[in-house]
Order: sequence, then C-alpha cells, then structure tokens
Amino acid sequence: MPQVGFIYHNKFLLHETGHSHPENKHRLESLLNYVRGTNFSQRLEWIEANVIDESLLRLNHTEGYIDYVRNTCISSPSSLLDDGDTRVCDRSYDVAVSAVGAAVQGLKLVVSGEYGRVFVASRPPGHHALPNHAMGFCLFNNVAIAAKYALEHLGLERIMILDWDVHHGNGTQDSFYDDPRVMFCSIHQFPFYPGTGSSVEKGVGEGENFTLNIPLKAGAEMEKYRDAMQNFVIPTASAFEPQLLIISAGFDAHYQDPLSNAGLRDEDFAELTRLSLSIAERHCDGKVLSVLEGGYHEEGLAKSVAQHLTALTEDKVPEAVAK
Ligand SMILES: [Zn+2]
Repeated sequence: MPQVGFIYHNKFLLHETGHSHPENKHRLESLLNYVRGTNFSQRLEWIEANVIDESLLRLNHTEGYIDYVRNTCISSPSSLLDDGDTRVCDRSYDVAVSAVGAAVQGLKLVVSGEYGRVFVASRPPGHHALPNHAMGFCLFNNVAIAAKYALEHLGLERIMILDWDVHHGNGTQDSFYDDPRVMFCSIHQFPFYPGTGSSVEKGVGEGENFTLNIPLKAGAEMEKYRDAMQNFVIPTASAFEPQLLIISAGFDAHYQDPLSNAGLRDEDFAELTRLSLSIAERHCDGKVLSVLEGGYHEEGLAKSVAQHLTALTEDKVPEAVAK
C-alpha cells in the first residue's frame, strides 16, 4: 500500500472570513471530523504543516502585492482584498504563508520519495490568485508556488498540474502560460467564474499547447468528466510525460455545492482520483501532490475528500481505468 501523507495544521482555521462567507473554517472542520471517523484514516500519515517561509511567495508573486496583502491583513481585523470577494483578517497573511509552506512541504516529501502521495488540507485556497492580484478567495497560489519550487530548486523539468476545481484555475494558468515546463490542464464549468478557461486558451510563445482547457457546460456529471480525462487529459499526459502530477483538488463540482451547477456525486471523486492516479503511475513513478482548493458544501466536501483519500490509499490503479 502506498504511503499517503495528510498535511494539516490547526492554524488553517485562523483565517477568519466572517460567518456568511462560503470559504470559512467550517469547511476544514467538517472535512477533518469526517475523515478522522473513517476506517481508512488509519492508513493516512498525519503530518503537521511546519514550513513558514515568506520568501516562497516571491516565486510567484510581486514584492508590491506581497506587501499589500501583509499590510492589509495587519492593519485591519476584517478587510476585502482587490476585487472584493477575498476577505481577510489580521491573521490571514500568516495563515496564507503557512498554506504555501504546506504545499511546498508536501512537494518535497513526494519528490524525495518519502511519500508516494500527499494531500494538503489547507486554506485559503490558491488557484485564482494572480502574481499581483487576489481573486476568488485566494491570496497566494499554493500550487503554482509548489510547481515553481520544484522547477527552480528540485531540478524537475516537466510537471503536470491537473485542476478539477469547478472554477477555472486562472491564476495557475497565468503563472505558466508561456512556460513549456508545466502542462496546465483544467476541467471546469464554462462559461462561469472567473470568465477565463475557454478551449482556445492554449498558452503563448514557448508555452503554446502546454495549457489544456476543457470547459464543461453547467450540469456536467461524471460521464463528461470521464470523457475529459480519457480523451483529453490522459493522452496529453502521455505526450508530455510529466515527472510529477500536482492536483488542484477542488470539490465544488459536487452536486450539492452552492457555488456551482455541476453534478458529481461523492463516489465520482474516487473515480476522478483513480483516473488521475493512472497518469502518475504511468509517468511519474506514482508521485502525486494533491492540494485542496474549493468545495463549499460542508457535508459534500467532507464526503468527497474522503472518496479522494480512499482512492489515494488504494494500492493499484485498475488497468481498465488506466487505459
Ligand atoms: Zn472553485
């Protein structure tokens, strides 16, 4: 059985966004309570997030933006960043730095071979965050920073980022739009927030054809996701041959999610995970880093993450799935 790390810290609850905000601490509390009560939680290695390194932010964000976020958080107990839906408190900057650190911590554990698969249960999420702009509840782009760390400090040359959050990962796309070292693949509801992610967005310059957007109409169920994986994402991985798979794991394509109109059931996230694992098994020596993004129905999120983790703790990806 592959060793699966589960990275978490209670500090992630200290990013207060207010009672009515969909991205709130109850998401993580619900997820943790549910996962701790399951049988397979014994098969997870619980790892405390312990990397706090502000210099990591500079891998993907401008100095001016980092200062803006830090100063805004420190100066006010409750503020909105940039476009108005990213609420922060006086602790949010520290928490966001820890969330970035947790992604890099998970990355190192996977790349070193210490763990085959790692899931990072952190908040705030990151995939909408641009180098100089907060968006969509995201302060800093956890996944983009982890990928840049892998390229610049760990010697990796080809990384696939698979983003199946229901919203397009515009921030991550932006970070690697001209970079052929990162194949960014996103499956998302379209047209939808944040407005980007049409199939004609394929990258520019040397990065042309290293971005793959698979927009799905509202109401998409597992059949559409399976089709997207088998006919587009998996063949793209075969051509690209990534050394590492990073999943931007959003669970807001769940049918109960209040912020989307997709139709995935709990168990569909296990199948989506197995399909993703088939890429890692074939090309990446099994190495997978999965980082929590969205998911706003507390029970739906908890059960969907449990399905994701169940699949991560399984031994072998069935051949039928891997085809
Ligand atoms: Zn989302």
